[in-house]
Amino acid sequence: MIYCCDDHVDMALDTVVVEEETYPTLNSVPSELKLSTTCEYCQNMAVYIVGN
Ligand SMILES: [Zn+2]
Repeated sequence: MIYCCDDHVDMALDTVVVEEETYPTLNSVPSELKLSTTCEYCQNMAVYIVGN
């Protein structure tokens, strides 16, 4: 799973498609995790969880 911010959600989706060769799922980060979770690609707060 990849945690990502609003700006990097497209990058995270592409990464899952390339690495896992499946269509990714997109979920919101639960509010209790938002403050302690940062984007994989920058230092912003994570907004989405990309999985498969
Ligand atoms: Zn980001």
